[in-house]
Formats: sequence, structure tokens, C-alpha cells
Amino acid sequence: MDNKLKIIINHAKLYGFIFKSSEIYNGIKSIYDYGPQGIEMKNNIKKFWWNYMVKYRDNIVGIESSILMNNKVWKASGHINNFNELFIINYIDNKIYIIDKLFYKIINKKIIENKKKIKLIFYYYLKNKKINKLNLFLKKIIKKNNLSKKFKWKNINNINLMFKTKLNSLNNEKFTYLRPETAQGIFVNIKNVKNSNRLKIPFGIAQIGKSFRNEIISKQFIFRTREFEQMEMQFFIYPGQEKKWYKYWLKSRLKWHYYLINKKKYKLKIHKNLSHYCKFATDIEFKIFNKFKELEGIHFRKNYDLKNHNKLSKKNLYFYDNKEKNKYIPYVIETSLGLDRLFYSIFTNSLKIENINNKKRIYLKLPKFISPIKIAIFPIIKNTQIINISKNIFNNLKYNFTTIYDENKSIGKRYKIQDSLGTPYCITIDFITLKNNTVTIRFRDTMKQIRCKINKLIKYFKKKFDISLFFKNNI
Ligand code: ATP
Repeated sequence: MDNKLKIIINHAKLYGFIFKSSEIYNGIKSIYDYGPQGIEMKNNIKKFWWNYMVKYRDNIVGIESSILMNNKVWKASGHINNFNELFIINYIDNKIYIIDKLFYKIINKKIIENKKKIKLIFYYYLKNKKINKLNLFLKKIIKKNNLSKKFKWKNINNINLMFKTKLNSLNNEKFTYLRPETAQGIFVNIKNVKNSNRLKIPFGIAQIGKSFRNEIISKQFIFRTREFEQMEMQFFIYPGQEKKWYKYWLKSRLKWHYYLINKKKYKLKIHKNLSHYCKFATDIEFKIFNKFKELEGIHFRKNYDLKNHNKLSKKNLYFYDNKEKNKYIPYVIETSLGLDRLFYSIFTNSLKIENINNKKRIYLKLPKFISPIKIAIFPIIKNTQIINISKNIFNNLKYNFTTIYDENKSIGKRYKIQDSLGTPYCITIDFITLKNNTVTIRFRDTMKQIRCKINKLIKYFKKKFDISLFFKNNI
């Protein structure tokens, strides 16, 4: 495993952010638990998304749909037939290769000629599910380019990525799936949501929830897992307005990301090889360990999903346009973000290891409003008067900010722990406090300290954690 990744995983475990699921039994592959700090940080990210996408907008509402749904949902959405992964098992190194990744590995070798034509043929076979022809074609390229010493396999495997689960019933045949995306819960509820909330096109429906994919290759910590959380929003529009709204949502989502992490870390990837439901798509990618990886997808799904649900359910999912006097099925722009991936990106980007005067300093430079603990309160020593004042401050601040109180170990060690947890501010109560009612506030990133009157603390920190201007200027 990459050394940098090891450091991230260790730090996440040591400071209560992320643990391997069922660790005492050696874990379960690609499934993770969030610890006390992890869940606080995750909730802060969710709140930032929800406020931006739902709470402060008048044309988007939120829902929470179920994980288990009627199987027909997945038939209509195309997931039963198309949500498949093609892969080979390479006999030479005993590794699994996902077909398109394998193809790029081969095509990136300098010796390959006629790359353009080869790509065209590859995608033609892939899209049209001509798996036998694809297999022969890939083997031919391998042979022609003397790569047989590196790759050897028999068949291309084709596996659906949905988790199947049984439903209790007299009839043993009854089964369903764990949802592989939250979007379908939105599509099948569109009329309920629209009617109960008197919504008019254009409007959006958003939700945050777990999704499950039985990934063939799942590595890189929480980047690709089998159980993960998505934050998705489907924006329903009048057909023909897709360009305008697509641009709008791409821009909006970028503004949101750039407020979290420096824009230099992001890149856009326009998709050429689209999934079964998609008309055009852009990925917002993030740089992790010098490689750009997909964080969020902005997709124009046309009315693929609603049309298919309309057909299979035989329920009327048409909308009526009073002005034009015609009925139509709305088009959809989707923004789909993986919460765990974003968590991973922020965490990785924030972990700083510096050398100061030959001493290692580790701190987690999280955006302040995302930090799991906002303020830590320390009495400098265990003196009754100082402890009483410290506890009073703690009890005053805790209703406004996630605050902790800690009186153990030396002050230096307590600062170090909070630096590693990403706590932006530490308050220390000392002997000067007894004289003039001031405390020190220490800043995580610069380690500088200032003094502040105790009765000014709430006002001071409210200002520091206030991000309302971002919403005002960017929605
Ligand atoms: P990938 O190409 O990485 O498999 P995808 O294009 O299939 O992702 P989408 O179906 O567009 O992903 O899902 C939207 C978002 O959900 C992704 O951008 C990603 O952030 C997140 N996501 C998808 N699969 C996983 C997974 N296995 N683990 C964690 N997050 C995921």
C-alpha cells in the first residue's frame, strides 16, 4: 500500500474518524465505520450540502426514500440489465482487471498503433454488449503487440453490481435489491412530492442516503466502497432548457466545492463514454495523491428514467404545460456526489505534516465549519478556581458550538491532540484569567495566540464560524 495512504488510514483510526468495519474479526472488505470525530465531520458536510442545495432555495425540496424498493424500479431504470461490470482474471499476475481499465492500460503502451481506430472498435463492442467479439478483439491486440507475457485470460466476466437480498415470504422466490443509487427514490416519488408541495417546473428534489454496489475492485480506503452515501439532487426542467440548467448546476456545484478546498485541486472531465441513462455528463474530479479522481457527476439524464417508469408502472408521470397546452415528461439534470469520497478528499487534503525546528508537527487543516470539534477548553493546571471558570465557559459555549473540555496531560500535549483532530480553536484559562477575565485563544493553523474577554467569546466565535455570506452570494 502507498505510504501516504497508510498515514491517512492510521491517522483516521487513531483520532476516531474512520475504523474498518468489524475490525475485531479482521474486517469486511471495503466497508468502513465512522468514529466519533468522523460522524461529526460527516454531519457537518451534509449540513453544508443540504443548506446550499435545499434549505436556502425556494425551488428544491428534500426527501428520504427507502433503500429497498419494488424490483420493477430497477427494471425500469435499466439497472437489472445494464448495471454490470465487465472484467477479466489475469492468469499471469492473478489480478482482476476491469475491462475499460485494462483497455487503457494496453492502449497507453507506446507500441500500439492505430489507437483511434482501436478505440472506436472497442467502444462499439462495449456499448452493443458484443462480449465474445470484444474478448477476441482484446486478445488479438495483446498478441499483435507481444503483450502475452503480461496478460492472459479465458473469458470476459459480466457481473451485475447490485446486492440481491431476500424478502420474507411464503414464496421463496421473492427477492429485491439494495439500491445502487438514491436517484430512483426521487424519480418514483415525483408526483407525490410535486402535488404535496404544489411545485412548478423547474424544481428539484434532493436526498442524502446510503447506496450499495457490489464493486469488483474496491480499494483506496473509502474512495470506492460497497456501502456508501450519496448526496443527489434531481432538477426537473422543461425539455429544451437543458443547456442553460446544465451550465447553471455545473457552475453552482463548483462554487460549493471551491469554498471547501482550493480550486486548483479540481478538474473537470467531460464524458465521452456515457452510462445507459445519460445524454451528457461532466465529472468534477479531485486531485488525490497526484491523480485526479471522480468526486461528483453532473448528468443530463433527459427523461430516460421518468419515461421508463411511466411505461412500466402505467401511472401517468406526464406534466401539463398550461401556456403551450401540451403534456410532456420533464427532463432532468442530476448532481450526484459521493459523501465518503468527498470526506476522503477533504481529509487527505487537510492532513499536514511539517518539520518545525527539527520537530514533526501534525495537524488537520480542515475548513473550520467542517471540523468535528470547533473549540477545546483547557484549564492550564488543575486549580479549583481555574477549573470552575473553564467549566463555566464550556457550559456557555457548548450550545452554540461543538465544544470539548479537557484538563488532562500537559498543555502542549492537549494542543497536539486537538491539532490532530482538526480543532481550529483552543481556549486556555490561566492565572491571568483570574485577574482580568481574559483567556487565550490559540489558532490551529498558525499556533498564534490572542487574549479575549470571556464575555466576548460567543460573539467572537459566532463571527468566525458564520458562513451565511457564502450562501447569500452564491445561491
Ligand atoms: P465510478 O466511475 O467511480 O465507479 P460512477 O460514475 O459509477 O463512479 P455515479 O454512478 O455517477 O458513479 O455515482 C455518483 C457518485 O457516487 C460518484 O461520483 C461517487 O462520488 C459516488 N460513488 C459511486 N460509486 C461509489 C463507491 N463504490 N464508493 C464510494 N462512492 C461512490
